[in-house]
Amino acid sequence: MEITSTELGLAARVQQLTKTYGAGEGAVRALDGVTVGIRRGEFTAIMGPSGSGKSTLMHIMAGLDAPTAGRVWIGDAEITGITDTELTILRRRRVGFVFQAFNLVPTLDAIGNIMLPFDLDGRRPTAMERSRIDGLVESLGLTGRLRHRPHQLSGGQQQRVAIARALATGPDLVFADEPTGNLDSRTSREVLALLATASREHGQSIAMVTHDPVAASYADRVVFLGDGRIVADKPKQTAEQVSEHMLASEVAA
Ligand code: ADP
Ligand code: MG
Repeated sequence: MEITSTELGLAARVQQLTKTYGAGEGAVRALDGVTVGIRRGEFTAIMGPSGSGKSTLMHIMAGLDAPTAGRVWIGDAEITGITDTELTILRRRRVGFVFQAFNLVPTLDAIGNIMLPFDLDGRRPTAMERSRIDGLVESLGLTGRLRHRPHQLSGGQQQRVAIARALATGPDLVFADEPTGNLDSRTSREVLALLATASREHGQSIAMVTHDPVAASYADRVVFLGDGRIVADKPKQTAEQVSEHMLASEVAA
């Protein structure tokens, strides 16, 4: 009997996911039979070497890309097979995404980018949302940068705008692809603490891709990916434990 995602308390899940890029000789199998759930209110890190399929997994889980085979749910809604319009609405209302490449709109200033999810949804932020945005802007150190456009910001500042945008609507589910990749260690710690707080105090479900053992140590759970497969799934780890695991799997490979 199949257990439903509600019974399991999963914010998102994928079942027997396969993703192949290209065809014939040049085909690359980025994911190979991945089954995993992101538990509600938990901060999950997805760890793995470069090219192991982390970004591919995250994009498919968030409905930004389609799998070659397998099924995908966001909460109770299966998104494999729904229309683009339905998917867009579901994503806009429930999911925040921090892209590895930021994906900021070049013609909008920082605050315009942060407000984009509201504009796309055709509404203004509520008073509560405004105060959340103010809090994010302040804790991410963006106060003096709100009128700057992306090309006037450093990589780290663009990254922080992307994080504020993903959290602005307070989505149930947040996907973050290497969110600390361009940040100095102090700002990294702030972003990681922000994500941990989002899950601990606001019950948001966070899935974060990283290859940094220190970043992974902020999570409640660490899922290790290797060569398109899940190779380990562990409860809270110290940075040392994560490093040891990564080293051991590199030696084994
Ligand atoms: P990670 O995020 O762990 O570095 P990716 O999910 O980006 O890994 O990539 C997994 C594999 O799929 C890699 O071998 C990569 O080269 C390949 N890949 C990713 N995106 C594409 C694409 N659009 N076209 C072809 N191959 C791709
Ligand atoms: Mg990646």
